[in-house]
Amino acid sequence: MADVDAEPVQLTGQQHPDWLWRTPDPKRSYDVIVVGAGGHGLATAYYLAKNHGITNVAVLEKGWLAGGNMARNTTIIRSNYLWDESAAIYEHALKLWEGLPEELDYDFLFSQRGVLNLAHTLQDVRDSMRRVHANRLNGVDSEWLTPAEVQKACPILNISPDVRYPVLGATWQPRAGIAKHDHVAWAFARRADELGVDLIQGCEVTGFLRDGDAVVGVETSRGPIRAGKVALAAAGHSSVLADTLGLRLPVQSHPLQALVSELLEPVHPTVVMSNHVHVYVSQAHKGELVMGAGVDAYNSYGQRGSVHVIEAQMAAAVELFPIFARAHVLRTWGGIVDVSPDASPIVGGTPFENLYVNCGWGTGGFKATPAVGWVMAHTIATGEPHPLNAPFGLERFTTGALIDEHGAAAVAH
Ligand SMILES: Cc1cc2nc3c(=O)[nH]c(=O)nc-3n(C[C@H](O)[C@H](O)[C@H](O)COP(=O)(O)OP(=O)(O)OC[C@H]3O[C@@H](n4cnc5c(N)ncnc54)[C@H](O)[C@@H]3O)c2cc1C
Repeated sequence: MADVDAEPVQLTGQQHPDWLWRTPDPKRSYDVIVVGAGGHGLATAYYLAKNHGITNVAVLEKGWLAGGNMARNTTIIRSNYLWDESAAIYEHALKLWEGLPEELDYDFLFSQRGVLNLAHTLQDVRDSMRRVHANRLNGVDSEWLTPAEVQKACPILNISPDVRYPVLGATWQPRAGIAKHDHVAWAFARRADELGVDLIQGCEVTGFLRDGDAVVGVETSRGPIRAGKVALAAAGHSSVLADTLGLRLPVQSHPLQALVSELLEPVHPTVVMSNHVHVYVSQAHKGELVMGAGVDAYNSYGQRGSVHVIEAQMAAAVELFPIFARAHVLRTWGGIVDVSPDASPIVGGTPFENLYVNCGWGTGGFKATPAVGWVMAHTIATGEPHPLNAPFGLERFTTGALIDEHGAAAVAH
């Protein structure tokens, strides 16, 4: 099994400098404005500068850097999605993750400890095996494990046949894992800043400057700023922003909650997910059990959710891990995720000239952070989608070429 206790990455840079980026005032114009300083916006800015030499870039953030979903997610990274298009973009991300600590010179605790996706019914088993085969055809590491093998990978998991939904096996992706999300954001931010990108916090985009059907800048809480190109990376608020242009994005915003336990000794060596009993659990480096489930069913922009959802996910967790029964919850929180009809992202151009959108990542966009930055930067720089995001354009909702990842996306982030 993979490396929970792997050697720390040897880095050359200073790990905790006094400041990681400048705090510039916004200029009157930029070549590119990225809206939203979550992981996606920061990675987009970094790759615009690094891969394309475009450095006259601002990332505008209404709150604080990584104050949105980026530092609220449960940090699961994997690439075992069903369809070819998804496997390609998530696997590109995973390959980038594998080199990112060295590239960004920041040890954000990327730990490839493997992910188990449990199967509890015969249909689960069939669907899971289909996914294993599809993954392998796409070069994604994926195996089918029997209940005994599952328990070897995660000894504290209850594989008794006497429970409501016994574990009948699991898919296993050894290269999957977790990373410390806020540090990932800081790592991208520091490098983007060094390359000349302006990271501007406390600057809300309230509308767009237009010249006919072309977007030529943004209105902000700190005045208008002109731009050659504008990219939206605002996650749960994407549709609100697009609305100001009369552009209706096919996404719905939902609260998604997570929780952590008090700090415990290391007991949980991997990541376990169950779509069926509806919970997933890993253990953070500092000892907290990190748990999550599916979205709260209603639409909302409040970064909080309902208690009954937390109750249900804890009940499911105790069913799978009786050992957790006496652990205490330390805190719960919520983020606002933007869910598309086929549970796949929307990444590409819009009907407006010079306006690009990256949204619809729903419950699973953290793992894609480097790849989406990479392909968004390409799309903005060249005006054409990268082959990896070409299938994820807005057009698919009119052509019908949907990429239905509900099975792989659902609760399993
Ligand atoms: C509880 C929870 C658990 C999750 N678990 C996982 C997981 O385990 N694995 C996984 O892959 N994904 C997970 N996700 C999903 C993942 O976090 C998101 O898909 C991803 O973070 C979205 O991209 P982002 O980081 O750029 O978004 P965000 O960090 O939300 O960035 C968007 C930014 O835009 C800013 N913004 C919004 N409107 C404006 C405006 N008008 N002007 C300026 N700025 C604006 C926001 O303040 C925010 O900072 C989870 C999400 C949540 C909430």
